[in-house]
Amino acid sequence: MLYTKLKTIYEAKPFLEKHYPFDQYYPLLQSHITKEIKLNAEYFNPYRFANEFSLDSKKSLNFFISLSTGKATVFEKNYQYNCVNCNLPKILTSFVLTEMLVCDECYTPFFIEDENSLKYIEFIFKLKSEILTDVKQQIKKVQSSSKETKRDLEEDREQSSSNPNIADVHNQKGPSTPDVDWYREQIAESLRVSMRKT
Ligand SMILES: [Zn+2]
Repeated sequence: MLYTKLKTIYEAKPFLEKHYPFDQYYPLLQSHITKEIKLNAEYFNPYRFANEFSLDSKKSLNFFISLSTGKATVFEKNYQYNCVNCNLPKILTSFVLTEMLVCDECYTPFFIEDENSLKYIEFIFKLKSEILTDVKQQIKKVQSSSKETKRDLEEDREQSSSNPNIADVHNQKGPSTPDVDWYREQIAESLRVSMRKT
């Protein structure tokens, strides 16, 4: 499932092969996803992926963006910010704030005041449900023969990785892959719109 999905994405986006060779990145991604699911991770973090395999963090973030943009995707890309007053998290499906957001708990409003606000909106990468189901089945099949424990997995996992945020993409210098460039334009445009409103 992951293999065919990734193949489809690479066919639709030929530039990926140059930056992220399939033969190298497919096994890394598969291993990472399997491990995260064994640890019951709900969300995936490109910085944790980078840490696990000593990859460049920006490159890893851009890879996840490519895998969550377009028709065929591995991840669903959502956003989260925490209320500045009570810290309650709020999940958004878009970073484009078409209306003022208000905290459900304390009614403190959140709006993009300037570029600095972008760092408070974090990426939430969720594995597509069909891939999740498939990987879980694979894990079940091999689990009986494996001696690997949850503790073994946890020991070499980087716990401290913070989630990437919108500013991490906005502040990137120079051109990247075409869909990351497109995504950065979307961020810049929504920032212009937000700042006109305030
Ligand atoms: Zn609040």
